[in-house]
Amino acid sequence: MTIGSMLGDIVNSFFKRPATGRYPFVRTEAPEDLRGKVVWNPETCTGCGLCVKDCPSQALELFTLDKAAKRYVMLYHMDCCTYCAQCEVSCRSKSIYLTNDEWELASTSRTPFEVYYGREEDVQKVLEPEPQGEPDLSPESKTE
Ligand code: SF4
Ligand code: SF4
Repeated sequence: MTIGSMLGDIVNSFFKRPATGRYPFVRTEAPEDLRGKVVWNPETCTGCGLCVKDCPSQALELFTLDKAAKRYVMLYHMDCCTYCAQCEVSCRSKSIYLTNDEWELASTSRTPFEVYYGREEDVQKVLEPEPQGEPDLSPESKTE
């Protein structure tokens, strides 16, 4: 490339639109099949534990508070997740899946990477288990 043609390219570039997007100032819609944050629906989960067992990154933990009443809490370690979607494939009741509308997940602290899913009172029980009473959150009650 000669200096002359290089100068020509430089001058031309002043009159062209940039090839790159102006993110984050201008946002485009995420593709339909983008693999974003994993979400879980406690209403339809059967507690089978397949998603936890099949996750190659050990990014999921399922706490069983009351199997008969279908009370479960899912702990999602977002910083371990590789967004492979194996959990979504493994789940027969479509209770766990990857969203395409939550994908800006970077953070300067670790706190947002521990995501608890479940009914609020159940999550509280997992976070602050009662000293001797119900529920039993011993390792046997937890699927990891
Ligand atoms: S997307 Fe993959 S790595 Fe992330 S929780 Fe699901 S199975 Fe695990
Ligand atoms: S595979 Fe589906 S039904 Fe089974 S524990 Fe996971 S989310 Fe629940």
